Amino acid sequence: MRRFSGDRLVVATHNAGKMDEMRALFAPLAVGVVSAGELALDEPVETESSFLGNARIKAHAAARATGLVALGDDSGLEVEALGGAPGVYTANWAEVDGKRDFGHAMRRTHDELVARRAPEPWLARFRCTLVLAWPDGHDEVFEGVIDGRLVWPIRGREGHGYDPMFEPAGSDRTFAEMTEAEKNAVSHRARAVAAMIARCFT
Ligand code: IMP
Repeated sequence: MRRFSGDRLVVATHNAGKMDEMRALFAPLAVGVVSAGELALDEPVETESSFLGNARIKAHAAARATGLVALGDDSGLEVEALGGAPGVYTANWAEVDGKRDFGHAMRRTHDELVARRAPEPWLARFRCTLVLAWPDGHDEVFEGVIDGRLVWPIRGREGHGYDPMFEPAGSDRTFAEMTEAEKNAVSHRARAVAAMIARCFT
């Protein structure tokens, strides 16, 4: 296990919602974070069929381009009654005419559940795979999962992506009805980051 040393890290994402969460999760550490989007790095094509493969592509591309240690996040929603879909294709389900529309993505997820006559509760989980990559090619891998269920109609205005449709187990509110701090206390991304901090940052 390699430990992080330095005072700056690049988060290999162009997703502003993910980046807001990452900034809050890194706040307790003496490490400055900047995103690939803010550095105007090219967004690599995610050609792999696993979260790990795509997180590796993003992390290593950002580490190579900047000479900094880079953190790649690949995450998505796995719906039990849909055999784990959309999974690694979660962002793709939001594509409409070259733009991302998560209202469309959530409606599609709902419509597929109804078409399959999937009985409620619609069990689902968010999964986050993190790859911490060094410019010399070394990397470390971490994962976080949060179980819950999908609700319809969607509820809440906070967060990003599929948050208004996802209610974590043990809560009667969706992620989009929580503050960022409440979501970050339990989320898949927070769990993966906590594992990374415990092993590489302390
Ligand atoms: P990625 O950028 O390829 O990792 O795409 C992951 C997609 O999964 C995002 O675009 C979101 O739609 C969804 N996703 C991942 N994490 C979250 C989350 O915390 N809340 C809501 N949606 C998420």
